[in-house]
Amino acid sequence: MEIKNVKRVLVKFSGEALAGDAGSGIDLEILKFVANEIRQLANANFEIGIVIGGGNIIRGVSAAEGGIIRRTSGDYMGMLGTVINAIALQEALEYLGLDVRVQSAIDITEVCEKYIYRKAIRHLEKNRIVVFGAGTGNPFFTTDTAATLRAVEIGADLIIKATKVDGVYDKDPNKFSDAKLLKTLNYDEALRDHIRVMDDTAIALAKDNKLPILVCNMFKEGNLNAILTECSGEYSIVS
Ligand code: UDP
Repeated sequence: MEIKNVKRVLVKFSGEALAGDAGSGIDLEILKFVANEIRQLANANFEIGIVIGGGNIIRGVSAAEGGIIRRTSGDYMGMLGTVINAIALQEALEYLGLDVRVQSAIDITEVCEKYIYRKAIRHLEKNRIVVFGAGTGNPFFTTDTAATLRAVEIGADLIIKATKVDGVYDKDPNKFSDAKLLKTLNYDEALRDHIRVMDDTAIALAKDNKLPILVCNMFKEGNLNAILTECSGEYSIVS
């Protein structure tokens, strides 16, 4: 796939990334950093949708571990957590002067818009950033799957999975010093190897809809913009 033809992108990053060293909650410095990275993309005239996870607040699976909270309720708690992150990101982006709308897959109309596909498209056309909250609105899914779903719905040219690592490696880079970054791989290879940066449901949905997945490091300043505008830096593409 040609990065230079990309116009509309869906950026997915995990809620955990917002937590910083504390491991949970929202680190305002990191929030500011992330907002700045997104601002660079907006200044470069990309149309931007964002899905943010909720792992810094709560995950359904972990909440259900003790047997007190049922998984389904835990998952709904997790989805509400993503809305908290989406609102925080909206504030940080607006602070930088950008136009932003949060749309939630679960109705919380006092807090943000509900997800309406046609409205989302209109916002994007008007160069507003749309942050999609509450995942898919369904338990037993992840925000990676939500991001892929929204990316397909809005006709994004690319989904960007912004992570803590530079891309997909042939083996665990934390364990093997000779691990090699894979510049490109196809969907079937990603599914066969269960690449850790994205879950299989999300990859399968991307495969069915021929949506390319770009995996890159969000913590290197200017990286997102450099990749999209100059195709420079490290990243992997699953397509
Ligand atoms: N979740 C869900 N359905 C969705 C998206 C998310 O039930 O469509 C719940 C699930 O419990 C998940 C939590 O929300 O663990 C937070 O999302 P995720 O774990 O994907 O966040 P991330 O790891 O990206 O921070």
